[in-house]
Amino acid sequence: MKTVGVIGAGQMGAGIAQVSAAAGLDVVLSDRELALAEKGKAGIAKLLDRQVDKGKLEAATRDATLARIKPVGDLTAMSAADLVIEAATEREDIKRTIFADVGKVLGASAILASNTSSISITRLAQASPDPARFIGMHFFNPVPLMPLLEIIRGLATSDETVAAAQAFAQKVGKETVLANDSPCFVVNRILLPLLNEAFFALGEGVGSIEDIDKGVKLGLGHPMGPLTLADMIGLDTILLILKVLQEDFGDPKYRPAPLLVKYVEAGWLGRKTGRGFYDYSGPEPVPTR
Ligand code: NAD
Repeated sequence: MKTVGVIGAGQMGAGIAQVSAAAGLDVVLSDRELALAEKGKAGIAKLLDRQVDKGKLEAATRDATLARIKPVGDLTAMSAADLVIEAATEREDIKRTIFADVGKVLGASAILASNTSSISITRLAQASPDPARFIGMHFFNPVPLMPLLEIIRGLATSDETVAAAQAFAQKVGKETVLANDSPCFVVNRILLPLLNEAFFALGEGVGSIEDIDKGVKLGLGHPMGPLTLADMIGLDTILLILKVLQEDFGDPKYRPAPLLVKYVEAGWLGRKTGRGFYDYSGPEPVPTR
C-alpha cells in the first residue's frame, strides 16, 4: 500500500491523514472544496508544530509528514489511492453520494472504507462500485492518540478486504477489533447510550456538569467524564448517531435526550464551536450550567 485517499478533512479525516502520512504513506486529502482540505492540513501542521516545540518530534520529520499530504478540491486524484477512507459528515445521503462519485475514479483493486460511527456498512456498500471491496474502518478521536481501529465487515466484504484493512492498521500502528455489521458496531453501541444517559441526567437535574463528569471519572475509572467526551466528539455527530440507533433498531430506548437536541439547535456543538457543555473561550474549559 502506497497511497491513501481521505475524503472529509474535519477532525477525523485530518487525524486519519496525519497518521497515514506519519507512517510513510502518500495522502490525498479532500473535502467539499479545496479551502476546507487545506484547512484540514493546516490543522495537522499546527499539531505537529506543537510537538516540535515540545521536543517530541524532529522538524525534518514534521516537514516530511506534511509534504506527503496533498489537499485537493475534487475526487479525481483519488484514482491513485490503494485505499480510500471516507470521513465526511455522519449523514447517509452525503456518504452515498461520495461513494457513487469516487466510484467513478476508484482503481480496479482499490478498497473503499467508511469511518462511519453508526451507519450500516452493508447498506452503504450498495452505493459503492464493489461491495466486496467495501469495509468499515472506525477510528477513534483524537486519531493520533487513540490506539484502536474497529474494523467492520459488511455482509459482502471479502476476506481480502478485511486482511488489507488489518494490514493498514498495522502500518499506522493501531490495534484492531473486528465487528460484524450492526448499528454502531461494538464500541459506540456501548458508548452512545452512556453519553445519552448523562444528557438525560443533566437535563433532569440529577447532577451538575462537573459532578456528572467527576462521578464517572472517579467512580467508574474512565479517563474523562461523558460530557467532556461528548464535547470532544461533537454534539451534532452524537445526535446523528443516536438517530441511527433509534431508527435502525426501532427501539425508543435510544431516543436522544431533549437537552442534546436543544444544544445542537443552539449551535453549541462542543469544542469545535467553542461551546458545548463547557465553554472553551478561556484558558480552561468552564461548565456552562
Ligand atoms: P467534522 O464535522 O469534524 O468533519 C466532517 C467533514 O466532512 C467536514 O470537514 C465537512 O466539510 C466534510 N464534508 C461534508 N460533506 C462532504 C462531502 N460531500 N465531500 C467531502 N467532505 C464533506 O466531523 P468528524 O467528527 O470528523 O466526523 C466525520 C465522520 O467520522 C463521521 O462519519 C463521524 O460519525 C465519524 N467519527 C467521528 C468520531 C468523533 O469522535 N468525532 C469518531 C469516530 C468516527
